[in-house]
Parts: sequence; structure tokens; C-alpha cells
Amino acid sequence: MKYIEEFQDPLLAERLLEDIHATVTRPWALMEVCGGQTHSIIRHGIDQLLPEEVELIHGPGCPVCVTPLELIDKALEIASRPEVIFCSFGDMLRVPGTGRDLFQVRSEGGDVRVVYSPLDALTLARENPDREVVFFGIGFETTAPPNAMAVHQAARLGLRNFSLLVSHVRVPPAIEAIMRSPDCRVRAFLAAGHVCSVMGTEEYPALAERHEVPIVVTGFEPLDILEGVRRAVRQLEAGRHTVENAYPRAVVAQGNPAARAMLDEVFSTTDRGWRGIGVIPDSGWRLAPRYREYDAEHRFSVEGITTREPAACRSGEVLQGLLKPHECEAFGTTCTPRTPLGATMVSSEGACAAYYLYRRLGGTTDAPLEASIR
Ligand code: SF4
Repeated sequence: MKYIEEFQDPLLAERLLEDIHATVTRPWALMEVCGGQTHSIIRHGIDQLLPEEVELIHGPGCPVCVTPLELIDKALEIASRPEVIFCSFGDMLRVPGTGRDLFQVRSEGGDVRVVYSPLDALTLARENPDREVVFFGIGFETTAPPNAMAVHQAARLGLRNFSLLVSHVRVPPAIEAIMRSPDCRVRAFLAAGHVCSVMGTEEYPALAERHEVPIVVTGFEPLDILEGVRRAVRQLEAGRHTVENAYPRAVVAQGNPAARAMLDEVFSTTDRGWRGIGVIPDSGWRLAPRYREYDAEHRFSVEGITTREPAACRSGEVLQGLLKPHECEAFGTTCTPRTPLGATMVSSEGACAAYYLYRRLGGTTDAPLEASIR
């Protein structure tokens, strides 16, 4: 398959690895921002092929994982209402809120539906004028534009029975927060190629300069990631800290102007809570004042719901790269993909799920492997 198989070529991977091994002289910790990259790294064993000086830390780039418990509880409250058709992508249905998840709401009679696009939810709103259709809009700069488009379309069509429960987050403020943390060990970032295909790379040079940290935009196939690591290590060894685009087949500096214009039209930036991490200033989007009537939190008066994160789950430390999943006491025992305690075990992009699925069990190999993970 074009753009997949040629980026999994073992001979080229070997050459990149040789270059990395020949270049590195000291320990460096690199963070891959995106959960899709984490899965690729663990699935292909890339971290095990790198020199021991190069450590890959798994960052907070899984959209399901960073959605705060409070938003899940708001979703549960809205989805329980008899007048509501609650629409979401499938992964969110299994994320535990306080005491239950969206699957349970459905089993108790709630009208919870899995859709594949926010526009499917718009269609439902048109077909069910006597019901309230709510779409759970989560994720990074990648999923925000189609959700913005859905709200824009609803307004254009005069659909008053559609609303969006918004939990959108932005990568650059998260990088800023990670670098400002006193425990930060990260010396370079592999930035997420799909985020940059929307937003471009213009937000990154100031970050790289301020924190003296190389940022390399990479893709998701093994050669993409190895090339990202190679470039980051080269910069670190040379004492440089610039932004490099190692994913030019998808990313240009200005990103996607149409998508960015839609984001500017429908959303305003706001402070956002990240699950396990806390509030990061200016790290998210909310609906702009002129679209407030489409804000589900406002429409269903759930703005006042506040929730504390459970102490047992250490996903906050996992999401900040301070803990490897198998170092959590609950990993593989009380917390598995069938019985997840935290979102990083539920989501197909979560680091805990990746370690469980690919049997990174912290030195043991006899723990049961969950076959049902999605
Ligand atoms: S293994 Fe489970 S409890 Fe531990 S950090 Fe991951 S999701 Fe949370």
C-alpha cells in the first residue's frame, strides 16, 4: 500500500538505526507527543532497537486519555436525559466516569449512539426534529475542524436541536506545560504529523527557542519515527534546537488554511483541564460566543458539575512521561482493557493499553493478553 509499506522497509530502518547508534554519545529523553506514535513505537519494538542512551517518553497525545473525568460525567448526565440522542465515537463509550460509563447509560435506556463523523450527528438532528442531538467533540487539532464544521453547518441550516459537548485540546500549550514542569526530563519532541498537517508548524519555533528543545515533526510509520529520532538526536548532539519537518509528504508550514479558518470562525481558545494533569492555560477550544447556543454544557446546564480524579489511577504521571505503564501497581491486575481504571487503558491510543496489548509487562511475560482490545 502506497505510503505505508515503503515506510516499513527493514533495510532502511537498519540504516537509520546505524546512524542513530553512530551519532549518540550521551543519554537523551525524547517525547513522542501522539498516542498513535506511541502505539507504532511499541507495536514495532522501535524503543527496544534504539541505543540505550535514547529513551522514548510517551506524551499526552491520546485524545480519549486526556478528556477530563468531569467532561465524562457531564456526558453521562446529558446522555441520561430522555429527550437526548447522545452521539460519540466508539472509544468514549467505555471510558469510566464516576461510577459508570456511556455503555451503562445505554443499557439503562439512554439513547447513546456510535457515529463515525459529526456530520452523522447532524443528519440525526435533521431526521429527529423532536429530539435533542448532542455530539461529544473530543480531541486535538485533528478532530476539531470537522466538529467546528458541524456547528457551522447546524447554524447555516437553522438546526436548533443540535449541540456539541466540547473537549478540544491543543498541543503547543501542552508542550509548554511539560517543559515548565520541575520534573521534566524531556530534551526533544517528536511532534505529531497529523496535527501539523492541520495547524502547520508556525507555533513551534518560539517553543523550541524558549526551551532550547528540538522539535521534529514526524509521521506514524516505523521509518517516520526513526527519522524523527535520528534528526532529534543529531540536533541534541550538535547543541541545536530548531524545528524540522520530517513529514513533508503531509505537512507544510502553513498547515491547512481552510481548516484553520473554520477553527477561527467557530472556536475561541480557553483554559482546559487535562485528565490527570490539571488545567493548562489556553490549551483548549470552546465555542465562540456567537455559537454559544450550540454549546451542550450551556444548553443542558451541566457547567456546574465538578469531579475529582480517583487516586488509584496514575495516568496523570503516565501522560507526563513520569511513569511507564507497567510501573503502575494496578497495571495488568486490577486494571486491564476489560476492567480499565483509567482512560489510558481504555483508549486504543493509550500508553497503558499499548503496553498491555504488546506485552510490555515490565520483565514478566506470563500476564494474560487481552484479545478484545480495540
Ligand atoms: S495501568 Fe490503569 S490504573 Fe495504572 S495508570 Fe494505566 S490506566 Fe491508570
